[in-house]
Amino acid sequence: MFSCAICEEFSLYNLCNDCRVIRHITTLNGKKRVLEVLNNVFQRCEEKQDNKMNEELKCEIENKKVSLKNSQLKRGSNLN
Ligand SMILES: [Zn+2]
Repeated sequence: MFSCAICEEFSLYNLCNDCRVIRHITTLNGKKRVLEVLNNVFQRCEEKQDNKMNEELKCEIENKKVSLKNSQLKRGSNLN
């Protein structure tokens, strides 16, 4: 048994399953962006957290739309 490198709970590996998901999200979005979201959402009083979460969600949805559009454009240009 190991102690998870992030949450320090006991795990069969150096990262538990939950923290493996966190690492995957960090790999996809970049450490800087993940930290920015965590700081914006969790370092506020509770009533302001909801507003900030909604803002961050909107921002993530917009980012995904842009990257989806870009990948569709790329695919389209590969067909020509
Ligand atoms: Zn963990």
